[in-house]
Amino acid sequence: MIELARGQRELELEERTARFIREVVIPYEKDPRIDHHGPTDELRREMQAKARAAGLLAPQVEPEWGGYGLTHRETATVLRACGYSMLGPVAMNCMAPDEGNMHIFQKVMTPAQKERWLRPLAAGEIRSAFMMTEPDEGAGSDPSMMTTTARLEGDQWVINGRKWLITGPKARDWPSSWRAPAAGRPCSCPTWTCRAFTSIRTLDTIDRSMPGGHAVVSLKDVRVPVSQVLGEVDLGFKYAQIRLAPARLTHCMRWWGSAKRAHDIAIGYACQRRAPSASR
Ligand SMILES: Cc1cc2nc3c(=O)[nH]c(=O)nc-3n(C[C@H](O)[C@H](O)[C@H](O)COP(=O)(O)OP(=O)(O)OC[C@H]3O[C@@H](n4cnc5c(N)ncnc54)[C@H](O)[C@@H]3O)c2cc1C
Repeated sequence: MIELARGQRELELEERTARFIREVVIPYEKDPRIDHHGPTDELRREMQAKARAAGLLAPQVEPEWGGYGLTHRETATVLRACGYSMLGPVAMNCMAPDEGNMHIFQKVMTPAQKERWLRPLAAGEIRSAFMMTEPDEGAGSDPSMMTTTARLEGDQWVINGRKWLITGPKARDWPSSWRAPAAGRPCSCPTWTCRAFTSIRTLDTIDRSMPGGHAVVSLKDVRVPVSQVLGEVDLGFKYAQIRLAPARLTHCMRWWGSAKRAHDIAIGYACQRRAPSASR
């Protein structure tokens, strides 16, 4: 039997999230640190510090990683409330692609990988990307059309391909929030090869709320140690479904909140607007 009554925790979190968005996040919407390709990393960190203080940072993840271990239904309610501002999901660290990535990291990563990647991601110390979509004849609606290749060389996978519509990789933010080096910068992380990972172009889209924008990315001989492979080799398609099925719904809940905001703005305008008197 399906329980339709809403629990106390769900109602309390919805109310607390709505207040946080109204009082803390909406005032940031005109902040000059937001450009056409999203908020700067400085602004993201500032908002996330306030969410952390309010007990609202990454509420969807398990308590071990700093959240409340919300059910799908509770997550949906919180995402709808925080979507009331396009900046809300960023402030609360439950925006795409990080929210979907945290979901699959919890399901698939080894304990050591979780400590290395999930813990700082849930804490807002780093950002992440999900690189499935490709230009031309590659992966899109049908990810089985993937043209990017991974070749095993010793104890490293060598990855080559081109991706686009990838949320997050605007080069400006790489040195501070990515553990992959920007092209031409000194490599401080043994996981990636310098000059291998290049953001070719940040696409112009109508949204300006996602940190790092949406980019075309080139992967040229990117070297990933076998210890850093997510789950088992050759199960990538299955893992993508584990990530994408709930991630499509979480997108919808955030947008439901945004649609409610647009509706409220329209109602507010309609109620105060006076039509000019008709000329004779
Ligand atoms: C703002 C934004 C952010 C994004 N961020 C990411 C990201 O971070 N990472 C990532 O990997 N991707 C990302 N994407 C890409 C997104 O997942 C793809 O756009 C989506 O999967 C569709 O692929 P496509 O654009 O190649 O369209 P296509 O697959 O080319 O589809 C084009 C049209 O054809 C239709 N169509 C396709 N196949 C069929 C068929 N067999 N039968 C009938 N109709 C069909 C589709 O419904 C659609 O209307 C993002 C997209 C946007 C807009």
